Amino acid sequence: IIKVRDLQKSYGDNHVIKGVDLDVKRNQVMVIIGPSGSGKSTFLRMLNHLEEPTGGNINIDGHDLNSKETDINKVREKIGMVFQHFNLFNNLNVIDNLTLAPRELGLMSQEEAEKKARQYLKRVGLSDKAEVKVDSLSGGQKQRVAIARSLVMNPDVMLFDEPTSALDPEMVGDVLGVMKDVAKEGMTMLVVTHEMGFAKEVADHVLFFDQGHIIEQGTPEQIFDHPQHKRTQDFLSKVL
Ligand code: ATP
Ligand code: MG
Repeated sequence: IIKVRDLQKSYGDNHVIKGVDLDVKRNQVMVIIGPSGSGKSTFLRMLNHLEEPTGGNINIDGHDLNSKETDINKVREKIGMVFQHFNLFNNLNVIDNLTLAPRELGLMSQEEAEKKARQYLKRVGLSDKAEVKVDSLSGGQKQRVAIARSLVMNPDVMLFDEPTSALDPEMVGDVLGVMKDVAKEGMTMLVVTHEMGFAKEVADHVLFFDQGHIIEQGTPEQIFDHPQHKRTQDFLSKVL
């Protein structure tokens, strides 16, 4: 569903992504690990065109993101993204956060959007929070709302950029639990995370990024138990 070829990104003189190739199949769960500044976020952000590549090619479900014929907004509707800092509308209540995009984009009627929103709130364990303002929620609850908000759009792919790293430790498990459920239901997912337990348990495939390259990739067993490259070994010895 995702094909990336020789992807490049520079910010001025700073060459951040240096030729990344990747194929992601439907239903695959990929976890991306790597040191700070290695380009993980930049890579994810290019997949939904929040950042424009300076070279190479991205194809999502048959749509070439470079092509003038591709309607980026349409492609984006099918890619959910969950960030470290939630990006919710704090002054709106939970249900309005969930129904805003599908209503504004004219994808669903108010009724339909609300029905789906309540369904997904239930799935993330927040049925009783539908009418409360987002800013009264805990970090973990906000992140579960953010995941539900993405799911309401019926995405083909979900991108997660360190979804638990801004959370208090006791909140992390709930959010990872929801992500695990989403994975089990067959969602295609790319997850940047430092949660190695989650990676081991849920990922089909792990990518190790360093200095703008995928240095090493494989199954969780290959990467965590038998890393081949010194840089992977060094990184893992610091985080495990
Ligand atoms: P972290 O684990 O800290 O989140 P990361 O692997 O996600 O790191 P990126 O955020 O992708 O790394 O950053 C990679 C490099 O790109 C860094 O050197 C960073 O300074 C640079 N960079 C990222 N975004 C921008 C931007 N908008 N403008 C200029 N430079 C940027
Ligand atoms: Mg990052």
